[in-house]
Amino acid sequence: MTTYRDLLSRTKAEISEIDARTAQALDGAAWVDVREADEWQEGHLPGAVHVPRGNLESRIENVVPDKTQPVVLYCASAARSAFAAKTLEELGYTDVHSLAGGFTDWKRNGLEIVLPRTLSPEKRTRYSRHLLIPEIGEEGQLRLLDSRVLLIGAGGLGSPASLYLAAAGVGTLGIIDADIVDETNLQRQIAHSLDTLGTPKVESAKRTINALNPDVDVVTYRERLTSENIDRILADGWDLILDGADNFPTRYLVNDASVWHRLPVVHGSIYRFEGQVTVFKPFEGPCYRCLFPEPPPPELAPSCSEGGVLGVLPGIIGSLQTNEAIKLVAGIGDPLVGRLLLFDALSTEFNEVRIERNPECPVCGDHPTITSYIDYVEFCQR
Ligand SMILES: [Zn+2]
Repeated sequence: MTTYRDLLSRTKAEISEIDARTAQALDGAAWVDVREADEWQEGHLPGAVHVPRGNLESRIENVVPDKTQPVVLYCASAARSAFAAKTLEELGYTDVHSLAGGFTDWKRNGLEIVLPRTLSPEKRTRYSRHLLIPEIGEEGQLRLLDSRVLLIGAGGLGSPASLYLAAAGVGTLGIIDADIVDETNLQRQIAHSLDTLGTPKVESAKRTINALNPDVDVVTYRERLTSENIDRILADGWDLILDGADNFPTRYLVNDASVWHRLPVVHGSIYRFEGQVTVFKPFEGPCYRCLFPEPPPPELAPSCSEGGVLGVLPGIIGSLQTNEAIKLVAGIGDPLVGRLLLFDALSTEFNEVRIERNPECPVCGDHPTITSYIDYVEFCQR
């Protein structure tokens, strides 16, 4: 009969167990903490990722896709990590080590540890449905709470986007909009209501957001985005821009600024029954000018407020934009970089078109010809 002790000593003989100094000298090693969540919460090694022993087989390939990369596994005292090392070798990992003495010895020897931030009990309750998703979890939720998203417009697209971002716990939302809530907005702009008719949209949206989630800090810019104010607003520090602009001048301004400030833009646009979504991530995919180097002549462009739109369409497109924004902020999934998603509300069809960077792009190309902001003032004058 094999006892636990026999099994452990046999396993330890079959794997590589190394001390802290040797482990620290390993070049480019992935450090994997295989303890339980409550142990991780009480402190872990710097730079380690948490993959509880019970999820090791199913999650390790996402965490360490390269099976030749050195891996240092640790637990509290090097028992669970020894078994984990054996498992990884069986999965084809070629350079796996278990940390001798585990976290206990590491801490006892006075080596650096990280005490993770944790969510308060109230936040654990509010975001419990995120915490239940391994890809988000507590760390992802903390990332969302730390994140800063700038919304261009508090209209059709900005309404659902701001509400879902706020509900998701994105900690800081900037909103730029110069307009006042009027009755024609209420057919689709769900951040506003009869109660806020006649008030600035940024204030109306802020009120709705804070009623939904007081954790969110709403920074309002009651102004029209121009070449004069865009750098000042971006200087407040944002992780990404969610563009719900309904006009060409703003779209080009946001594009050029995002390339120069290296900020991803989640782009959405809507017209009647059709909507589009993509992510412009500077230098990793195309920018808006890669597709459309210059705006169309004003007489061919739909003017700024005349386009009809099905009321629910901005809800669909704005929600798709929010999905991209949350993924980018949480660092999960495949964003729509280099992919333009088209939606037709009448046929209920999605289509996806590949879009590529243009080396001749006047802003993000190899030899940029546009190097300062352009106000395309002739639009929206009618
Ligand atoms: Zn470009």
